Formats: sequence, C-alpha cells, structure tokens
Amino acid sequence: MFRLKIAAGALAAGAMTALMAASPALAESTVLTNVTVIDGTGAAPQPDSAIVMTDGKIAYVGAMSGLKAPEGAKTIDLSGKYVMPGIIDSHVHVGIMHDVTQDIKYYTGKNVVDDLTQYARYGVTAVQILGTDKDMIFGIRNHERAGRPHYARLFTAGQGIVYKGGYGGVYGLNNPVATPEEARKAVDEQAAKGVNFIKLWMDDERDTIPVKMPYNVSAAVIDEAHKKGLRAVAHVFYLKDAKELVRQGIDGFAHMVRDQPVDKELLDMMKAKGVWMVSSTLSREMAYSLAVMPWLNDPFFTRGVTPGTLEALKSPAREKQIILGDTMFPGLPYKKKVFYDMDRTLFQAMENYEAMAEAGVKMGMGTDSGPNGRFPGFNAHEEMYLEVLAGRTPMQAIMSATSENAKWLKDPMIGTIADGKWADLLVLDKDPLKDIRNTETINSVYIAGNSIPTVWEACRDRPEESCQKRPDNVPDMPY
Ligand SMILES: [Zn+2]
Repeated sequence: MFRLKIAAGALAAGAMTALMAASPALAESTVLTNVTVIDGTGAAPQPDSAIVMTDGKIAYVGAMSGLKAPEGAKTIDLSGKYVMPGIIDSHVHVGIMHDVTQDIKYYTGKNVVDDLTQYARYGVTAVQILGTDKDMIFGIRNHERAGRPHYARLFTAGQGIVYKGGYGGVYGLNNPVATPEEARKAVDEQAAKGVNFIKLWMDDERDTIPVKMPYNVSAAVIDEAHKKGLRAVAHVFYLKDAKELVRQGIDGFAHMVRDQPVDKELLDMMKAKGVWMVSSTLSREMAYSLAVMPWLNDPFFTRGVTPGTLEALKSPAREKQIILGDTMFPGLPYKKKVFYDMDRTLFQAMENYEAMAEAGVKMGMGTDSGPNGRFPGFNAHEEMYLEVLAGRTPMQAIMSATSENAKWLKDPMIGTIADGKWADLLVLDKDPLKDIRNTETINSVYIAGNSIPTVWEACRDRPEESCQKRPDNVPDMPY
C-alpha cells in the first residue's frame, strides 16, 4: 500500500514537472491564411485575411499583413476560400428518429450525439433543441460546456409544455398539463433541471385537433418562466394566437404565423416588446409540401442521411401516401391529412417572413429539423436559401443564422468571428454572398478550433466508399 502511494506520488510529481516544463508549448494553434472573412456582423467581407485559433478560441482575425503566427502553429492556406461563423440553428429536435420512424424509444446518448455530429458536418456548430429532450441532455450539454466539443453545441428547452389532448411534444415524453397550476408546476420542474428556455405549443393543426392550449394556461407558462429568469418560446400557427401571446409577454416564436398575412398590429407589438422571430421554419413547411423531394439524388443530401432513410424516401409507396393518404401520428387517436394545402402554408410563411424582416422584427434562423422529413444540418442550408427566395440578401440570411441567433441565445462567445470568441467556423470554397447556395461548398468546419469531418468527408452510418461523391458544382434545385 505504502509503495503504491509512493509510486503514485512520484508519477504525479513527474507529470507535473513535465507539464510545467512543457506549458509554453502546450497552447495549440492553427493559422488559416489568405482567406476572405465574412465575420457574421454584416460588415463587408475582408479578403486577404488570416485567423489564428489558439486552444479553441480566436486569437487573431485580421489582415495577412498583421499576422504574427505563433511558433509551431499549423498553417492552412485557404487562398480563394471564404470563412463565415458556424451556422446556428435555433429550432431542432435530436435523437428521436430511427430512419423515418419517430419514437422516443430511440432517444439514446448515441443517437443524440450522432445527430449533433451530423449538424456539425453540415457546418451547423450550435443548435437550440425545442422541447423534446430526455434528461440525459443536460449531461451531454454540461460535458460540452466543460471542454472543446466535437459536435454541435446545444441549448435545450428540456421537455416543452403541451396542453392535455392538444398538439405538440413527442408522445411518451412530454407530460401534458390541464390547468394553469399544472403549467406552473411543469415550468418549475424544467427550470430546476437547468433548461435554457421554456417551450410551449399552441396549435390545433388546422382545426383537426379538438383542443388547443387555452390562453390562461399559456399566460401561466410565460409568467412562471419569467419568474424563474427564463424566456419562453411558442409554437404558433394562427395570427390571433400570436397576438395574444405577445400581449402575455412571450419572448419568441418558434414558427411563422401561417394562417393569414401578419398585420401592422402584430408587427408593431413585436417590435415594441422586442419579441423575436426565433425560427421561421420555412424549410419545414416546404418539406411538408413535397410529394417527391427534389434532393433525393443530391449528394449534399444523400451523404447526410441513413441508408434506411434514403430508401424510405425514395419509395413509391411514400409518394402515394403523401399525395393521397391520411397519416396516423403517434399519440393521436385519429388519422388526418397533413399534406393538404401545405403549398399555401409555405407561401404564407415566406410572405410573412419578409413582412416581419422588412418591418424590423428581430429575426433568427431555425428549421425544426430532426423529425420525419426534415434533416439535421441539410435543412439549415435550405432555410437560408428560402429566406433569400423570400426577399432577404445572402448577407442578411447569414447574419440571422450567426450573429443574430447568438444574440437570441445570449451567448457572447459564438456567432461572429472576432478576437476571444470560440473558433466555430465554416470554410467555403465559393462565395456565399454571391449565391447563398454556395454555403453547400463546405471546405472545412471547426468547433472550438477542432476540425470536424464535413459532410463531404464523412457519410452517415455507412463507409465513405459506398456514398455519392462530391459534385463539381452545386446542383440547381427545381424550386
Ligand atoms: Zn419543433
């Protein structure tokens, strides 16, 4: 016993000496040179720039002429390439899918991390998960916060608040509430677990669900969240509900208003109260409106989904079901037609997106990816593209996805490329300001300075050799 103690002590002392002697060289630095920097703030792109990443953080960003590369740093020449902050997706769900089947039984640590890894491969370096997490998420989040992660950073709303018998959540996970008192208790439980936000659902899926969260329950959720120092985010569909939620003090919306055009009253209230359009989820509405997804042969898509997903999406049976069929949702006692009238919903969402952005409402970027038909990482690129189609400039779409989303998350360490921030970066072969589709030309991804294998380098759930290769050009989509 005594001998062992001595040995352990000697070892510790030896290690300490080695550590001390080596400490000046322990800093790990990578230098990116000759790159055009789009820093996420909206500032003009800066060509001929350099970035120094030291121990995961940005130690220098500026002109090549001012670069003092740390001794022993690894240098990567990025001539002709562009770098922007890693994308932040402020509305996702993770770990709930196996191929195209959604079930909370699939929620394992491995499945969660696989999804977060997939986001990272697409250059999405942080996500906000809105209301469908098991408690193990806090351990994963805390582990990430303690070091330099190799997958997307996560923010979580834990288990969001669902009204009993109403829309929302994942069957078997969320614990529905029936009264304002139960709602307050549910919020308190989430707050005690350490959630970043409180999520609530107020919808009846186009009048197909007989009940919807009543206003006295949503008021209790919002009020209790604020008492606990948390902000509340709402799933909405109807203009009328959006207005009432703003009056009640909601902090952000997780979807666009989709039943009719937004009006001046809502826009004025949102601006006056600083309410965020956190995630417009245009790519979600589009996914619902497509019987045949136009990207089923696009390697940017196929490489990022499981073989089982690809097979199911390509099946003629699915096409027929979407065009003709009713869909049985887990947990609902009846079937409903979900795809009916979705095109109109997408166009209404896009029109309202542009109206809100034009009016000066604070706009984040979020996809609602994760559930069936909406794909981790891939959808973020679709979302930015749809934002541009709706009327934004590529620069505005990039700002929403980076600096603006970081402001919403209140995380000063991410969202822009600046001294002292985490080196969460997306390097592109082509200029995203010229064509937002160029965000697909992913050259490399860094999270806290860690190089992450990109979607062009790693294929989900199968060996690289069995995957489609990277094309020379970004394919044109028929929309
Ligand atoms: Zn969602």
